[in-house]
Amino acid sequence: MASKKPNVIFVLGGPGAGKGTQCARIAETDDYAHLSAGELLRDEAAKPDSTLGKEINEHLKNGSIVPVAITCKLLENAMQNSDKENFLIDGFPRNQDNINGWQKAMDGKVNIRCVLFFDCDEQVCVIRCLERGKASGRTDDNTESLRKRIITYNESTLPVIQMYEKANLVKRIDASNDVDTVFQDVQSVLSSIKSSN
Ligand code: UDP
Ligand code: MG
Repeated sequence: MASKKPNVIFVLGGPGAGKGTQCARIAETDDYAHLSAGELLRDEAAKPDSTLGKEINEHLKNGSIVPVAITCKLLENAMQNSDKENFLIDGFPRNQDNINGWQKAMDGKVNIRCVLFFDCDEQVCVIRCLERGKASGRTDDNTESLRKRIITYNESTLPVIQMYEKANLVKRIDASNDVDTVFQDVQSVLSSIKSSN
C-alpha cells in the first residue's frame, strides 16, 4: 500500500449485477487494484491449511455473510500487499456489521471516494448467475443458493446502499445494459470523481 492515504471505491449490487466483470475492466484501463471480497474469501477457503475454510464455505453456499473480522482482515492484507493507491472493493460492505467492522479497523486510514452501485433487475441477475454457474465452478451459482443470496441482498445490503445514498456517496449505474454500455457509464463516473480531486 502506498504511503499516501489510499482511495477506496466500494462496489455494490446484487449477485450477478456485473461488479466483478466491470471491476476487472476498470483495473485493466485505470490505475486501480480490484479486490473482490468474495474472491478473497473463496481463495482463503481453498487453501489446504486454512482453519477458516469450513466456516467460509458454509456461508458461501447459504448466501449468508461471513463474520466481518475475517473479510476485513483479508481486505486489509490485500491492500497492504498492493502498491496501488486506488482500490475497488467489490462486494463489500454487505451489511451493517460489515460497516462497523470496517470502521473499527480502517477508520481514518482510507478515503472513501464513492459507492458504485450496479443496479440490476433481479430476473436479469438470476439468468446471468445461472449462466455463469455452468462454468464458474462456484458452489453458489445455483437456484437454491441464489434464492438465499437475493434475500440476503434485499434484507442486508440494500439498506447499506440506502445509508450511503443519504450520505451522498452513491453513483448509480444501470447494470441491466450490455457490458460495453455499462462500462461507458462507469468511465463517466470515474472521470467525474477524478475531476473532483
Ligand atoms: N461474502 C461475504 N462477505 C463479503 C463478500 C462476500 O460473506 O464481504 C460471501 C457471501 O456469502 C456471498 C459470497 O461471498 O454470497 C459471494 O460473494 P461475491 O461478491 O463473490 O458474489 P457476487 O455478488 O459477485 O455474485
Ligand atoms: Mg463478484
